Parts: sequence; structure tokens; C-alpha cells
Amino acid sequence: MNIHEYQAKALLRSYGAPVSDGRIVLSANAAKAAASEMDGPLWVVKAQIHAGGRGKGSFIEADAGAAGGVRLARSVDEAEKEAKAMLGRTLVTKQTGPAGKLVNRIYIEDGSGIEKEFYLAILVDRQTSRISFVASTEGGMDIEEVAEATPEKILSFSVDPATGYQGFHGRRIAFSLGLKGAQIKQCVKLMGQLYKAFVEKDMEMLEINPLIITDGGDLKVLDAKIGFDGNAVYRHADIAELRDTTEEDARELEASKYDLNYIALDGEIGCMVNGAGLAMATMDIIKLYGAEPANFLDVGGGATKEKVTEAFKIITSDPQVKGILVNIFGGIMRCDVIADGVVSAVKEVGLSVPLVVRLEGTNVDEGKRIITESGLNVIAADNLRDGAEKIVAAVKAL
Ligand code: GDP
Ligand code: MN
Repeated sequence: MNIHEYQAKALLRSYGAPVSDGRIVLSANAAKAAASEMDGPLWVVKAQIHAGGRGKGSFIEADAGAAGGVRLARSVDEAEKEAKAMLGRTLVTKQTGPAGKLVNRIYIEDGSGIEKEFYLAILVDRQTSRISFVASTEGGMDIEEVAEATPEKILSFSVDPATGYQGFHGRRIAFSLGLKGAQIKQCVKLMGQLYKAFVEKDMEMLEINPLIITDGGDLKVLDAKIGFDGNAVYRHADIAELRDTTEEDARELEASKYDLNYIALDGEIGCMVNGAGLAMATMDIIKLYGAEPANFLDVGGGATKEKVTEAFKIITSDPQVKGILVNIFGGIMRCDVIADGVVSAVKEVGLSVPLVVRLEGTNVDEGKRIITESGLNVIAADNLRDGAEKIVAAVKAL
């Protein structure tokens, strides 16, 4: 689960991390009022969307102006003007995809003078099963590009969970960033605060790009991006409250209401499968036959007819879907439950694309009978290969 920059900064502030004063606003009037509460002479007007690269992004609407989603203002009136230009407009960045994201919230921040910009991240390293720090002198840049072109400029190490964060971890980062004097102490303290927040709040990723040295010579968190482990959010009511569902994929949101493991993808073939492994294999074989899956969906073992019906509705609501492949190997999941769900969903929402159904395993005969007797226009398949071949052929023939 991701949160907005202003929420991430508030959280880090509660751990003692140095962040600028800021206010979240929903209107240009409120932006002016918020800016008036800060001294200036510099304000930063920041679009709040769940995507990075805002500074270098651009708006679809011409009246939003040529600047990106992070703008500097030299007066309260200018802050109001920039907020007005961005609110209700669509910001496209490297991370939003071409459709962009609607800007509903603006963060007004007390501007900082910048001496230097660094990159810092904490993440879960799956290779070592440990928490890792990543630091680089190349702040404000695309870290993937830095890793590609100048990997020697990135410091990365993991923390032994038996000891947790120690002062030497922070000093290692401080020296690699070339910090001096009091900055080294600030760095050791800040890294400890960030590490503590990361562990206590079950984060998956914490990225500060840039971490800066201000013109006053102090370390400061200038941007913050946090992703939480979705499976642990139930342990943190305060974090769950930060969820902004308007930033999420509508179909994934709907699926989460029914506890379905659904992930939207870019292809044209909708998939309904039981078991994550079989779902992965189904996506692979669709690609093998020359098409792309429109989603990952594991309906799970104990799904009811109602759940299957909802899953099928979610798949058909995707306008990109040109065909559907139902691939069920009935074990705990029974083929007749799947068949019932598919038939009831089609009765409710209709079916305008080809549907290939492959059923095998528990109650397969009953499942096939339900489908046949429903009079649905279904293409039957005998196995995984046959099913993939048939749905790809049906979609290509359209
Ligand atoms: P991102 O583009 O979405 O990563 O948004 P950031 O919060 O990282 O802002 C983009 C860039 O705007 C930063 O790398 C800075 O160069 C600049 N910026 C952000 N806040 C300030 C500020 O307080 N003062 C100054 N001078 N520049 C800022
Ligand atoms: Mn940034």
C-alpha cells in the first residue's frame, strides 16, 4: 500500500526526522491561506499523487502551464496561482503511464535552500532476507539510470536483524556521501529514525530522493515515498487510514472488497484461474501463443459462487479484454462452483467476447453439465495448452 508524500513526511516527522513545515490543501484559496502561515521567501507547491517524477512531469491540460508537478513560488499569491493551475488537472510522469493522474491535493511547503542533493532508500532485500540501505551522492536523479551508468556511485548494504541498526551503519552512509562535522551526527540519528519507522510500521520501501543539505548546512528530508507491506496493514490502524482509494486501480479495488487476488495488466485476454502457480502458468502460455494476459487472477481454494461471479464481472468490465480464458484445476475448488459462478455472472452482465473454459478435477462432469445446459456460447478446452491455443485463436480472429 502506498501513501502520499505529505502523509509520509508527517509519519517521519513523528519519528523526529527533519522535514519542512507544510500544509495539505484541496483548493487555491486554502493554498493561499496555508502559504500565509509560513514566512517565505520561498514556497514549494507540490502535486500529491501516488507517483514519483512529478518535478519533471507535465500536465495534459494546456492551462496548467508548462511547469511540472513541483513548482517554486516567491510569494503567497504565486503559491495560490500555481496551486490553482495544478488542481483538477492531469499530471503525467514517468511513473504514471500515459493516462496520468488527476491532482486533487496540493502540498504547500516552506521552501528550502539546497546545497546538495542525495539519494537514500531503505528496502527489503529479498536475496538476503534483510533490510538494506541504499545511498548515493547522485540525488534528485533517476536511481535506475545511476545504477546503470555509474554503479560505483551507489552504496548498498544490509542490516543484520540480530543487531538491528547501529551507529556504524549511519557513519558508513555519512562518509560515502562526503558529510562533514555535525552532519555526520545528524545522519547517524536520521538513519536510526528511518530504520525504526521502517521496522515498526512494516514498510516495504522508503525512498528519500532527494535527501538534502540545506544552505544552512543541515540534513533534511525533501521528498518521501513510502510503500507498506499490504499483508501487515491490518496491524496498523493509523496506516490503514492513510489509504487513498482514488489513487488505486478501480478493478483492483473492487477485487480487494471480495478478497480476490486480482492484478490488472495491459493485455487483451482476461484470465480466471485457481491457484497462484496455475495462474502464472496460464499467463505464460498465453504469451507463448502470442497474446498478452489482461490480468492475474487467483480465485483461491474456498471461493463461493458469489465470489466467482464478482471475479467474472471484474474481468468483463475491463474494456481491453477481447477474450476470456477460465482455467480451473479443481482440487479444494470445485468445478461446479466455478461453472455456477460463470453462468450467473454472464446472465447478469452478458458476454460480448469469446469465452474458453477448461475444467479438470473435482466435480468436473457436473461443471461441464452446468455450462452445457446454460446454453452459453462457450468454447470447451481439454487442457491448458488447448485452452490457450483456442482463446488466442478466437481473439486473433475478431
Ligand atoms: P519528484 O519529482 O516527484 O521526485 O518530487 P521532489 O519532491 O523530489 O521534487 C523535485 C525537485 O524539486 C527536487 O529534486 C528539488 O530539486 C526541487 N525542490 C523540491 N523542494 C524544494 C525546495 O524546498 N527548495 C528548492 N530549491 N527546490 C526544491
Ligand atoms: Mn523526488
